[in-house]
Amino acid sequence: MELIFEKSVDNRGCDILPPSDVPVVKTDSRYLRRRELHLPEMSETDISRHYTELAKRTYGINNGFYPLGSCTMKYNPKINEEIAKLPGFSNVHPLQPENTIQGCLKVMKLTENYLCEITGMDYMTFQPAAGAHGEFTGLKLIRAYHENRKDNSRTEIIVPDSAHGTNPASAAMAGFSVINISSTKDGYVDLEELKKAAGEHTAGFMLTNPNTVGMFDKNILEITQIIHDAGGLCYYDGANLNPIMGIARPGDMGFDVVHLNLHKTFSTPHGGGGPGGGPVGCKSILEKYLPTPRVRESEESCDKYELVTAGDLSIGRVKEFYGNFLVVVKALTYILTLGRGGLKEASENAVLNANYMMNQLKDTFHMPFAGPCMHEFVMSLEELKKETKVSALDVAKTLLDYGIHPPTMYFPLIVHEALMLEPTETESKETLDQVIAVFKKVREDALMKPESLTDSPKKTPIGRPDEVTAARNPVLRYLF
Ligand SMILES: *Cc1c(COP(=O)(O)O)cnc(C)c1O
Repeated sequence: MELIFEKSVDNRGCDILPPSDVPVVKTDSRYLRRRELHLPEMSETDISRHYTELAKRTYGINNGFYPLGSCTMKYNPKINEEIAKLPGFSNVHPLQPENTIQGCLKVMKLTENYLCEITGMDYMTFQPAAGAHGEFTGLKLIRAYHENRKDNSRTEIIVPDSAHGTNPASAAMAGFSVINISSTKDGYVDLEELKKAAGEHTAGFMLTNPNTVGMFDKNILEITQIIHDAGGLCYYDGANLNPIMGIARPGDMGFDVVHLNLHKTFSTPHGGGGPGGGPVGCKSILEKYLPTPRVRESEESCDKYELVTAGDLSIGRVKEFYGNFLVVVKALTYILTLGRGGLKEASENAVLNANYMMNQLKDTFHMPFAGPCMHEFVMSLEELKKETKVSALDVAKTLLDYGIHPPTMYFPLIVHEALMLEPTETESKETLDQVIAVFKKVREDALMKPESLTDSPKKTPIGRPDEVTAARNPVLRYLF
């Protein structure tokens, strides 16, 4: 496809500017551009066609199945956008006086209350803009807690090897040493290793649950007990709450801090780099360290809300103003639309869909963890590769020709030739059956005519780019 600069024709502009209604000012020549500004010149029709063509080449949840494990690429109801678009939400300014934004403050307080109820936490901040940002914020709370108690030897965060990759990174960024512990062959935290690692230097422990192989850790109560006995705090990575929301609560399992990904579980579209939300919930022992300002119900009159900025012990701001407010509006819309029963049903369907696919495919591909799984599962194509030389990458690339977005590849690292699938709760049985049939066909092709897979995809605009060069030396500018 030609770039917009290549389609450009000199003097073909389509700008229709009104006459200036302010005096024209002569600008100092040092501020003037010395060279012609390179802007593409096209008619409105051609611009419209250009972008429509580009839009047709992107792939999103509106195009088809998108089982990208750990990312929860589910369908997000359009009503969320309708509500977030209301002028009372979208036309406010963050510096407006409190009495003119009572509705917005109420949205934040209500959402905090609901999410605390769902997670079993006491308080929540909406400032973090993403999951990893939430982890960083939660870890700062843990750090502040120990520092305030003058317990300065607690410098370590324990992270199992089945954690999401952001967990050890966030712990390191928050200034802790990361202690890695391995998992058992069933995919659970190794309790003996955990006991050995926990001690007087333990500031906290981070658990991704369900973990990156899609398993709910059955020893979770024992795990949090071991950490608390050692004097540490427990952090729950709740980015993927969709298998447990409405069913189980991190707060009841002994966790002190949790983050959620509103742009996964609570229905904000993501993947294109748009605004997200990684709210952090905590138990009351950590409340005084939360970022401010926070929303509080006014003591003088009910149904009146105010912003509270005080708090000497607060870790301070982690983002300007109150986080991505419209993402919070979407989360509240989602929670209210589904209700208590609907949230639970969404979780049940996420787990049901993953287990259905896993069971339908277990004779086709090797499942290293027996399950039942939660919202996602991992297959290993190691044996297939030995037999046919067809790798997980080849299978993922072949799926593109069937109009299916590939699963997460080569993650988690503890599984060789891994493909990680998360069908999500919003897919129908018909779609799942079609995709299962495609996976079976791809395996058959791998056995019968492996060479047909190693040079796929054939139907996409770009076949196989040199991925290392594309990542290391991307050419992102048009060279005139
Ligand atoms: C997606 C995810 C994260 C990171 O969330 P971002 O919003 O991408 O920063 C952290 N933990 C888990 C388990 C995740 O799935």
